[in-house]
Amino acid sequence: MNNISVPPAPVLVADDDPLIRRMIRSALELDGWSVVEAEDGSDAIAVFQRASPGIILLDVLMPCMNGFEACEAIKGLPDGKETPILMVTALNDTDAIKRAFAAGAEDFITKPVQWEVLRHRVRRLMQMRELKAIAAQERLASEHAHLRELEQFMMSISTQFIDLDPADVDPRIAAALCQIGEFIRVDRAYLCAFYEGGMRINCPHEWCAPGVPSKSHMLQRVPVMLFPGWYDRLSQLDTIRITSLDELPSFVRAERKFLEARQCRSALLVPVSSKGRLAGFIGFETTHAEKVWLDQDIALVKMAGEIFITALEHKRTEEALQSNERELRQITDTMLDAVYRADANGIIEFASPSCWHVFGHPPESLLRTSVFQHVHPDDIEAMRAGMFNTGSAEHRYFHANGSVIWLETLCNLIFTEEGQVEGIVLASRDVTQRKRAQHELQELNRLKTEFLSTAAHELRTPLTSIRGFSELLLSRNLDADRQKRFLTMINEQATRLGKLIDDLLDISRLEAKRNLTLAMEPVDMGVLIAQALSPFQESSPQHRFVLDRCPSYPPVLGDAVRLTQVVENLLSNARKYSPNGGMVAVRVASSDVDIHVSVQDEGIGMALDEQEHLFEKFYRANASNTATNGTGLGLSISKLIVELHGGAIWAESEPGKGSTFHFTLPLMLPNLGPESDTMPHPVEKAE
Ligand code: ADP
Repeated sequence: MNNISVPPAPVLVADDDPLIRRMIRSALELDGWSVVEAEDGSDAIAVFQRASPGIILLDVLMPCMNGFEACEAIKGLPDGKETPILMVTALNDTDAIKRAFAAGAEDFITKPVQWEVLRHRVRRLMQMRELKAIAAQERLASEHAHLRELEQFMMSISTQFIDLDPADVDPRIAAALCQIGEFIRVDRAYLCAFYEGGMRINCPHEWCAPGVPSKSHMLQRVPVMLFPGWYDRLSQLDTIRITSLDELPSFVRAERKFLEARQCRSALLVPVSSKGRLAGFIGFETTHAEKVWLDQDIALVKMAGEIFITALEHKRTEEALQSNERELRQITDTMLDAVYRADANGIIEFASPSCWHVFGHPPESLLRTSVFQHVHPDDIEAMRAGMFNTGSAEHRYFHANGSVIWLETLCNLIFTEEGQVEGIVLASRDVTQRKRAQHELQELNRLKTEFLSTAAHELRTPLTSIRGFSELLLSRNLDADRQKRFLTMINEQATRLGKLIDDLLDISRLEAKRNLTLAMEPVDMGVLIAQALSPFQESSPQHRFVLDRCPSYPPVLGDAVRLTQVVENLLSNARKYSPNGGMVAVRVASSDVDIHVSVQDEGIGMALDEQEHLFEKFYRANASNTATNGTGLGLSISKLIVELHGGAIWAESEPGKGSTFHFTLPLMLPNLGPESDTMPHPVEKAE
């Protein structure tokens, strides 16, 4: 340390004899020392405090305070210890020499003073003083350097933990423990954390110097009560420094045994707190030599511990967040409902994968779009009310496939701490089926109500006739002709009544598929239709019934009575709804797989919207409701029968021009032979 210099200091000469003082001054000034003088012991103390001399020459015998007392007093002062005192004693006064050393003097000189000896002693003491001062300055400088090193070291540790990925926390702590361990020269460094409400200790991290065995297993899942003395002190956030095991008080016996088992010579346990509470501690141990733990090292460890605990807590929070998010994602991923979150303006920020399933739109395509984007314009207000007032809404939505679906959307507002709407979480479920079923139920109820009035009307009409004609027959004496006519009418009305009741029973049986036994047998539809047609040809002169069929067809497997019922119903409708007569053309054709029958009339026909409902139970097209008798059940019965046979039924119609009803029935065996002929051969035309 060449640049360290000790400033020059005067020599204090305390003697009651001014002549001696002057002589000493002259001798010392020869060597370039400056001199300050004191007349007695107490004056010497005052001059010492004022002039900070480098050396003090104290005469023993002085009037006001003798040299020994002054020496003791000066050595008791803050800088006195460091200032060498040269006691001037009488020659051969060994007692005085002993007392001088006992009072703290560094050296002595005897009277009469030999000037060379004096100059030599002063020079030597001044050199000693200078060396001491330089050593003190060097020590200070090195402490300062160590502190600077510590500071930089701490900076480097703390910067390693800034913006740390949670996955890197553990390896970073391990690396930092190693760095600190090496820095403060220990053999083992470890981080312990309390868990189970502070009842147990775990040691997630340990570093050992090369060749030093790991002892982390001794600190895994250990109850804190095994070390009650330490736990009490750590709980009060006290640092435990043990320089030597011998200094451990007897009441910490468990702790001593523990340290011995670890071959430990010195130990340091520094509490680590989080939010003012003990969270764990960092431990250091030496196994090769005892160590004095320095305050600045402890401060470093404390800081490092806080950094570690903060990082570990951050990691734990991150992991908890990630696991929450994972769980939430699993829920939203597996949910059938579309779950999405929007900001306060209704702009979508998150859309679960199930959105794809419910909306048909890929979730990412919904991000940054409005929640109303695909909502039916007529339902936007209802949805807005659901979002901000009622908490739920049923609304229509344009599915990506172009269809309109019904959604039931539950809405949950998210608020900021200040109570402002921050966003909204929505869960939409496709309720189209339910809506359709509701609608169908409503429609069914409506149709049933309609039917009841129709049925009542239809039942009452023949009943009224029956009752009227029978009353006439009973109350009057009528001639045989009139009696017969009335009885015929009664019979017709009874038949009509019977038909209505049959239809009602049929529909309920066919619908329930109960009490319905189809007598299945091979049926030639050409023959069946020809038989069904003939009564119509005879009873309806204003209509021209034409049958276009082959002599025989591959058989269908069916119930001939029920299939006749279908054909009769279509023929009867063709006649009923052609009040002005005209041609009714019946065609039969076969393909490889089925028989195709069509009944075409030139009657009133139907509008397109009426055709849509034709096969619904109790439906009667408006035009026919009043004009023609009917129940609205015939076509429903026909449809049920055809479908029970595995076939299909449909209609084509044009208002004022006529209608064509078609139905198909599957062949009993597909027509695969080489002679199979898909084209009908019109061999018979019946009129
Ligand atoms: P009903 O004839 O007893 O009313 P259906 O079920 O047989 O009941 O027919 C249902 C409705 O379909 C009829 O009321 C009628 O409006 C219409 N309809 C059926 N067949 C024809 C047809 N050939 N021409 C025009 N309308 C028809």
